[in-house]
Amino acid sequence: MANSGQKVVLITGCSSGIGLRIAVTLAKDEKKRYHVIATMRDLKKKDKLLEAAGDVYGKTLMLLPLDVCSDESVKQCINNVKDRHIDILINNAGVGLLGPLESISIEEMKRVFETNFFGVVRMIKEVMPDMKKRRSGHIVVMSSVMGLQGVVFNDVYTASKFAMEGFCESMAVQLMKFNIRLSMIEPGPVHTEFETKMMEDVAKMEYPGVDADTVRYFKDVYLPSSTDIFEAMGQTPEDIAKCTKKVIESNSPRFRNLTNSLYTPIVALKYADETGGLSVNTFYNLLFNFGPLMHITMSILKCLTCSCLRRRTVSPN
Ligand code: NDP
Repeated sequence: MANSGQKVVLITGCSSGIGLRIAVTLAKDEKKRYHVIATMRDLKKKDKLLEAAGDVYGKTLMLLPLDVCSDESVKQCINNVKDRHIDILINNAGVGLLGPLESISIEEMKRVFETNFFGVVRMIKEVMPDMKKRRSGHIVVMSSVMGLQGVVFNDVYTASKFAMEGFCESMAVQLMKFNIRLSMIEPGPVHTEFETKMMEDVAKMEYPGVDADTVRYFKDVYLPSSTDIFEAMGQTPEDIAKCTKKVIESNSPRFRNLTNSLYTPIVALKYADETGGLSVNTFYNLLFNFGPLMHITMSILKCLTCSCLRRRTVSPN
């Protein structure tokens, strides 16, 4: 149970990756400021989290089952929290989807939206009324740079994160009136099982019904470039956990929080040209004309991200 003065933080999707690391980072806070409720849809997957948590499990960290795709599971989980009192809700659970659109069933696309979009909506609907009554709270949503900029062959995943960005941008205004903060965390590539799971799935697929040119662009052009980008730009789950801690500890948390300064110029392209031509043409050229030179492009981008751009992100350091 939380001590008085401790903030109750509920995090979704803590079986691995970013969610696991945020849970452990907050539970190990030196000043013991957080009572962390780490949730996962299958408690059989708890071992990795408990191993990383060590002796804080049972003290500043507890576990509850929660599937963000189930109304019943969400309600039951929040009802199991003392007085349903949650100070900080961190919506982290998410799934990826990668590949040529023709090869993806509508059912698979709905699963992505059910988790990445409706999962967040379901959580906020359940937790927000109590926060409103108390006139206090902070809702954090793990978005992505793909919530700000479309990325080829990630069409549906990107759409699910865009949907959430639009939803949150709208909600933030109303919530501010109730003294509830809403913050989006927007990481670029992060080395987690998310990436591994997606690449494994992709390698297994045969892409029936997709024309040979598209399969070739996906496998021989996009995938190697994507690997280069992960190598050059990838952050760790620890980096994202540190950024998230900074955001929840800020006196005036920002609404948008890019975690990787290498993405600031990419996102800026979009706002520099409201017709969209600049970003669509740049991404086309990066992939199809400069794809083989991707690692050089990445190095140039690193040089371009001077300190003034870094100040526009939330840095893990
Ligand atoms: P992981 O795959 O390591 O973690 C995803 C977590 O979400 C897992 O714990 C998974 O549980 C959980 N989850 C999936 N579906 C549900 C569900 N229905 N109910 C509850 N939990 C669920 O990936 P990451 O840590 O990388 O991803 C975390 C978040 O970060 C996601 O929202 C993702 O979109 C975002 N992100 C990731 C980036 C990356 O490059 N890795 C970049 C930018 C954003 P289970 O083990 O049961 O599947």
